[in-house]
Amino acid sequence: MIENAIRFHGHQCPGLAAGIRVSEVVLRELGKPARDEEMVAIVENSSCGVDAIQLLTGCTFGKGNLIFRDYGKSVYTFINRETNKALRISLNKEAFDTDEEHRTLFAKVRNKTATEAERDIFTQKHIKKSYEILDLPEDKLMTIKQVEPEPVQKARIHESLDCVVCNEPVMETRVKLLDGDTHCIPCFEKLTGNKF
Ligand SMILES: [Zn+2]
Ligand SMILES: [Zn+2]
Repeated sequence: MIENAIRFHGHQCPGLAAGIRVSEVVLRELGKPARDEEMVAIVENSSCGVDAIQLLTGCTFGKGNLIFRDYGKSVYTFINRETNKALRISLNKEAFDTDEEHRTLFAKVRNKTATEAERDIFTQKHIKKSYEILDLPEDKLMTIKQVEPEPVQKARIHESLDCVVCNEPVMETRVKLLDGDTHCIPCFEKLTGNKF
């Protein structure tokens, strides 16, 4: 499971480890991975952990049963549509605390000023931290609450209409009208200067 998640995500990191732990809880409490849309995930961030969640719970962006709400919170809500059970999982910030050296190195790696040696130390620390996350008692890592499932619409197939500027087809619910003509969002934005 861990190997697969690392392969899918591209590297090992604390965020991915947390996503693995969240997925474990979901599969234990809500059932098997979603083949279709019987399970829905609402994720409130788009960082590393979401990759593990997609791979392990079967709630994926492409199937439409992964809903992204850009709230910048480490909160994940899962709904099993068959049993009507829902869990809200919130990660505890303290679980991700790192030492001063780790934080300094992280900043250096990010702004590309780290030497090769510093980069190696950082990678070791990052991997060590991700193992700590994998081993942390569940109640130290996250807060799990059973909640009322919110109604989430199933993914629907829509008609496509052609944009009058670029001629590319656009899903009808995303078409923008200008003087009655259908426009795709990028063409509409270019013409009007409005941003969506
Ligand atoms: Zn990562
Ligand atoms: Zn267009």
